[in-house]
Amino acid sequence: MKRYNRIFILTGAGISAESGLATFRSANGLWNNHKVEDVASIEGFERNPALVHDFYNNLKAEVQNVSPNAAHLAITTLQEKYPAEINVITQNVDTLHEKAGNKNVYHIHGQINQAVCLNCAQVLETWGDVDTETVCPHCQVMGMMKPNIVFFGENLLCMDTVERLLRQCDLFVSIGTSGVVYPAAGFVQSAKYYGADTIEFTLEPTANNYLFDKHIYGKAGETFPQFVEELLAAL
Ligand SMILES: [Zn+2]
Repeated sequence: MKRYNRIFILTGAGISAESGLATFRSANGLWNNHKVEDVASIEGFERNPALVHDFYNNLKAEVQNVSPNAAHLAITTLQEKYPAEINVITQNVDTLHEKAGNKNVYHIHGQINQAVCLNCAQVLETWGDVDTETVCPHCQVMGMMKPNIVFFGENLLCMDTVERLLRQCDLFVSIGTSGVVYPAAGFVQSAKYYGADTIEFTLEPTANNYLFDKHIYGKAGETFPQFVEELLAAL
């Protein structure tokens, strides 16, 4: 096992699923029994903002009731014990990484405990409900808050940082991503192009399987902590 200086960890729905959270893009196109286009598109939000707020308020409550699993906790161990810069780039809108004590977490698809004001662009952080009557604490305008979730067709967040980290990393790790949702599915290609070793932890072969040097199949809660042990043992 090599020594690494900069580790880029990309996580997707699979790591949250092991904590019991429904995955955002399941095979049947439903998310907690809602059509994804109704609750995760700008058109859906414009059509029925109350429904969209309601959906994310419910998800917010659900998220608060789940706990991080062994894979999340192993990232904390790695960050505490392994002498490298370790960043976590997640497609998940839950905050299980933070709950597990992970540092340097970037939510490229937004996060459930935030709303953004469409009038002044300020972000409001709250675990309380947000609805069509919520007043923006910054500009005092009512009814302009949108869940700070990246909807279809919107730009991902933190991409300047992500692109820099992809150029710099010498180990790229993917945990629980399907490899079909772009642009995140292309991250491995960039990292590989810039010279990083690439490894994926997944339940089954992914769409961009061929871009990884190594594949570890199984539950991330079992396989990833073991990998962390191996990294630490090589110090
Ligand atoms: Zn505002």
